Parts: sequence; C-alpha cells; structure tokens
Amino acid sequence: MTDPYGCHNSKREAGYYASAGMMVSGHPPVQVRVSIATYIEDAASKACQYDQRANDPRCEGCQK
Ligand SMILES: [Zn+2]
Repeated sequence: MTDPYGCHNSKREAGYYASAGMMVSGHPPVQVRVSIATYIEDAASKACQYDQRANDPRCEGCQK
C-alpha cells in the first residue's frame, strides 16, 4: 500500500544528527576526543503534499 500523503504522516524523521567533526576536551594529561553532532531538521518532512490535508486529522501539524 502506498502512502497517499506527501507529508509527515509518512515514516520520516523530523530531522537527523550529522557529525560535525571532533573536538578535544579537557586539559593534559586528561583529554578526550568528543564527537560533535549537529541536529539537522529536515524541513521537507512537514511539507504536506496531500490535497485533503485540511480535512484530514492525520494531517494535523502539517505545514502547507
Ligand atoms: Zn499532511
């Protein structure tokens, strides 16, 4: 069954974490390398393509 909705009703995440690199934290001799994660919001995940979104409660929260 295909999803009739082109919106967040599909199983898409609202965003994802992307690695933004590493940094060194602490002072010698105790230093640790910490990976930095940046949260990337998937702006397209709430863009609704469903033409009946105004009448469908499942589209609550959709953006036009
Ligand atoms: Zn929708």
